[in-house]
Amino acid sequence: MARVLVTGGAGFLGSHLCDRFIADGYEVICMDNLITGDLRNIEHLFKKENFSFYNHDVSKFVHVPGKLDFILHFASPASPIDYLKMPIQTLKVGSLGTHNLLGLAKEKKSTILIASTSEVYGDPLEHPQKESYWGNVNPIGPRGVYDEAKRFQEAMTMAYHTYHGLDIRIVRIFNTYGPRMRVDDGRVIPAFFSQAIKGEKLTIFGDGNQTRSFCYVDDQVEGIMRLLKSTYTLPINIGNPEEVTIKEFAEEVLEIVGNPDASISYHPLPIDDPLRRRPDASLAKEVLDWEPQYTREEGMKKVYAYFKEVVK
Ligand code: UDP
Repeated sequence: MARVLVTGGAGFLGSHLCDRFIADGYEVICMDNLITGDLRNIEHLFKKENFSFYNHDVSKFVHVPGKLDFILHFASPASPIDYLKMPIQTLKVGSLGTHNLLGLAKEKKSTILIASTSEVYGDPLEHPQKESYWGNVNPIGPRGVYDEAKRFQEAMTMAYHTYHGLDIRIVRIFNTYGPRMRVDDGRVIPAFFSQAIKGEKLTIFGDGNQTRSFCYVDDQVEGIMRLLKSTYTLPINIGNPEEVTIKEFAEEVLEIVGNPDASISYHPLPIDDPLRRRPDASLAKEVLDWEPQYTREEGMKKVYAYFKEVVK
């Protein structure tokens, strides 16, 4: 049985990956310090024989007994309000945490896949974003703690590949959504759904003309699994190229939820908020034969069913 370590395994994406590995017959070691993760995301896995959980901060030395075939490094605060609240931890988990896991992968001769991000492109001057684009990041702005940690993570991972021959995978994840997103994580999808369900005003930041491209979690997980099983060692975008303005998106949420008390309000745009974002996903199609299967309409219906249950 293949053994896999998932860091950040109690988080939104990490827990979906744990589910997928368990379903596919792997032995899963989930590691999380629970600063943004939540045990409720994985409690259904505790009864599985091939699942174990370590409460540990991977910015500190990481030890796992026994063999490890794969390591997936998904630990990090990932929402702008979280990494603004925890800037030092965010920098540490992307840098020191990555270094620890690369060391572990070298020791165990594991394949390591690291979760990078569309944020490495910053406020992009190229649109849509191809993997060859170097990005436009403000290193000392409020988002710099996340963006630069992830850029360092890519550089460090590539260096281990080049100098130690480590088998690496780098996924650049674009805005992904689905069940288990924290309702209060401040990101636009949980924010708008909970506001609409509660009959409040949807808080559009700026004029709402900024764009994002949202990928449903099942598609994201499938892309990550295909990358892991491939032999491709350069960064690859996994995201849904369907682009939408935040204003149009707010209107779609109002339509789906249909709460007559909900409406829209406008607020200042956070500093360095990227004006537009859309993956060029052609490399994922070419190398992994991966394409998103869910339209935004389908994905939104599924995530609405989840938020209806959890928003109080
Ligand atoms: N946003 C918004 N209202 C909110 C939360 C976010 O208008 O209540 C905007 C935010 O300014 C950004 C976009 O929605 O332009 C996506 O924000 P999110 O925090 O989800 O992720 P990002 O892609 O910025 O990391």
